[in-house]
Amino acid sequence: MDKSSENTSKRKSGKAKRVVNTRFAKGQGYLEVLESIEAKGKCPFCPDNFKYHKHPTLKDDDKWLLTRCSWPYKNTKEHFLIISKIHKEYFSDLSNDDMKSVRLLVDWATKEFDLKGGAIALRFGDTEHTGATVCHLHFHLIVPEVGKTVNFPIG
Ligand SMILES: [Zn+2]
Repeated sequence: MDKSSENTSKRKSGKAKRVVNTRFAKGQGYLEVLESIEAKGKCPFCPDNFKYHKHPTLKDDDKWLLTRCSWPYKNTKEHFLIISKIHKEYFSDLSNDDMKSVRLLVDWATKEFDLKGGAIALRFGDTEHTGATVCHLHFHLIVPEVGKTVNFPIG
């Protein structure tokens, strides 16, 4: 966690920072990983602690990276994550440059993997209200199996 995110967390809560929310783990394997992360208290998506993720970075710039999701949702043909390289938790933390980076990474993945269609989703803010497991902002780029429905839980 960098200095600015420490300051943000103290400002928001005044107590130890939550980095993950085990309540929304999808499956036992993921729950165990999240519990281990929670015990250490370090954000798993911040660059200095990005060791739990199972897949390589496919494309990045100075602000964001694109990778496959370690824990893809049911009925996904493709499930990518686009993860900020700076710890952010709120939609209002996103700048125009952030949105431009995300757009370029989505465009790249769309061409590279010949994605015919899909969806982009982002949870933000207090995980008790979102269903996110990791507090650090990350977009999901999801392509469903044709004829199947991917459920993206919120809350
Ligand atoms: Zn982080």
